[in-house]
Amino acid sequence: MDNLPPLREVINTHGLQARKSLGQNFLLDLNLTRRIAREAGVQAGVQVYEVGPGPGGLTRALLAEGADHVLAIEKDNRCLAALSEVADAYPGRLDVIEQDALQVDEATALAGSPNQSEAPCIIVANLPYNVSAVLLTKWLQADPWPPWFQSLTLMFQKEVADRITAKPGSKAYGRLSVLSNWRTSPRRLFDVSPQAFVPAPKIVSTVVRFDVRKKPVAPADVNALQAATTAAFGQRRKMIRSSLKSLGVSVEALLDATEIEPTLRAETLSVEQYYALARAYVALK
Ligand code: SAM
Repeated sequence: MDNLPPLREVINTHGLQARKSLGQNFLLDLNLTRRIAREAGVQAGVQVYEVGPGPGGLTRALLAEGADHVLAIEKDNRCLAALSEVADAYPGRLDVIEQDALQVDEATALAGSPNQSEAPCIIVANLPYNVSAVLLTKWLQADPWPPWFQSLTLMFQKEVADRITAKPGSKAYGRLSVLSNWRTSPRRLFDVSPQAFVPAPKIVSTVVRFDVRKKPVAPADVNALQAATTAAFGQRRKMIRSSLKSLGVSVEALLDATEIEPTLRAETLSVEQYYALARAYVALK
């Protein structure tokens, strides 16, 4: 696919032994990384924002699949020399910033990237699991909407992917399902077995793609939506008339305005009912 050395060799040459503290489980199978890139929609005419390139397995696939440009954010400076070899193999198409992705203002970083591209941007990342959930929430709360990216393709612990794609009435349905389905249409692409990573984690992973809805399913204030889902799912076994008390507004007025049955429980409310609750909450606050 390119003239770069195999990833195992890259890891040995640059001393990139995986660090648990950085959630490092590397993908060394370039067929798998190319599959992720393809199913994320990477092709010529697209630029990619990648978080956590590590030794560069997924980055190489993104470039080989034809991305006009990749901007990669990596916290571990041990990876920079290996990534600069990838940049040399794809001149003018890869920029790497050494930073914590949680601190990055992405629109500014993209605009300031030396080889910046005007092409539509998608996010593709194989991140540590704790960081992916936090970043997903940050990206889903982007303001303005539609945001600076068109889709996100991210690796999750299978159980988190189940929560993201869960439907009302199921055990896995929760805050992450409501928030994800509000502004995007999430769908599972495929599972990845532990053996595909070095070192192998204990759990199965799932790649999820989220396509941005240009218009959210219903207008709602993102902070109010977070407040309503936190209150409801924080006490998911209780009836909604009781769990919503923590919002600090009249629950009766909230339920009247939204025509929601007071005896329902959090997991049976539809995504639309949560938007309605968020809107009523803003009006009553
Ligand atoms: N993309 C590579 C692959 O697929 O083989 C590496 C994936 S590894 C699961 C996660 C990567 O994210 C590591 O390279 C790690 O150093 C990096 N990382 C962890 N936390 C980060 C953060 N907060 N900001 C940026 N990069 C981070």
